[in-house]
Amino acid sequence: MPAKNDLQPLHEASVFGEGIAYFNEAAAKLDLDANMRRVLTHPSRQVIVSLPFQRDNGDFEVYTGYRVQYSTARGPAKGGVRYHPGVTLDEVTALAFWMTWKCAVVDLPFGGAKGGVTCDPTKLSIGEVERLTRRYAAEIIEIIGPDKDVPAPDVNTNSQTMGWIMDTVSMHLRNHTPGVVTGKPLCIGGSRGRVEATGRGVMITIEAALEKMGRTIKGSTIAIQGFGNVGSISAKLLHEQGAKVIAISDQFTGIHNKDGIDIPAAIEFVSNKKNKKRSLEGFTGGTPIGSNEVLELACDILVPAALENQITEENAKRIKAHLIAEGANGPTTAGANAMLAQGGVTIIPDILANAGGVTVSYFEWAQNRAGYYWREREVNERLRDVLRENFDEVWNTAASHKTTLRTAAYMVAIRRVAEAYEARGFYA
Ligand code: GLU
Repeated sequence: MPAKNDLQPLHEASVFGEGIAYFNEAAAKLDLDANMRRVLTHPSRQVIVSLPFQRDNGDFEVYTGYRVQYSTARGPAKGGVRYHPGVTLDEVTALAFWMTWKCAVVDLPFGGAKGGVTCDPTKLSIGEVERLTRRYAAEIIEIIGPDKDVPAPDVNTNSQTMGWIMDTVSMHLRNHTPGVVTGKPLCIGGSRGRVEATGRGVMITIEAALEKMGRTIKGSTIAIQGFGNVGSISAKLLHEQGAKVIAISDQFTGIHNKDGIDIPAAIEFVSNKKNKKRSLEGFTGGTPIGSNEVLELACDILVPAALENQITEENAKRIKAHLIAEGANGPTTAGANAMLAQGGVTIIPDILANAGGVTVSYFEWAQNRAGYYWREREVNERLRDVLRENFDEVWNTAASHKTTLRTAAYMVAIRRVAEAYEARGFYA
């Protein structure tokens, strides 16, 4: 008999609900105790803050910010902060939930968290974004810290955003506190290799999966949705490994070139200062196509590296790739996931495929605590070791339980988090 609230009806139609569906599948395979299930399907803390800040014209606006700490069983809560018009409490909770399993599946000593501000940063000046960021940091200052909760970049935030948060916290506390955030600029305690880490992790996990299938990156054809940090760096590293990246996209357009896109040229195009939107619109290295068409092109490997819920029951049947590596968090709905699994498509789930970023965040946090900084080669080697080792654990779990890599990844992660709760006992 399932426990009373196992199905979480309140969350059914939400992003968090999609995550819970995956959790339930793995929990059932693990035969997870109903009490533990109940605990693990609730966020431990959800904070909502109002953020008044001054526009350049003197007017005040009040935006809403969130920080959700899903779990701290294995260590300080950890996860990025995103700035996006679609940010809601439900979305941030789902993302904090995923961070919990992501940190656990690669065995980092962290719990899971996520933050967000509902805003469109492309409509704000740099000064406005700075004031908004500092206000957000000040509003959540009691709940973040190197031993409490460590924010990092996510959608539309970057090392500059982290620099402002680090400075705001350090000024308030009158204490140099680099370990309060990761993904900082190098000159104030960032880690070498952090900017490329998520894309590098996507490449490493693709390589590991292909190896198991007797294939190689070299010669594979790849389509990538999203050309922000994760999409563009995955594209660059896969291109360097000899893959043919036949399609890329952003929210404005897709670009298709069956002979392979010149990725360094595409990156240069979006990075040009004159290209204010950082868009691929106008890039001449291929034929323009619709943004979402990239998902459905004939290719070996698909990398969704944009936002949640992009691969749905509606478009899943048209996907032709045999391997999907989820660079984004939650790009595949539970319904689409089941259809793809049935069709024999292998999916490297988000919590594993994009865990490279938080893994190097862990290295950054460790370097901050030690006050001793590593070389880039060291960072990249250790990242590869962490991902390969845990990829194998997930792969073997999938093989022995005859399940998908996603369910296996959740099984590995849930087992580790549950073990931590058991070791600590429940504080009551
Ligand atoms: N935002 C990234 C993610 O979703 C990185 C999080 C972190 O480094 O804490 O994994």
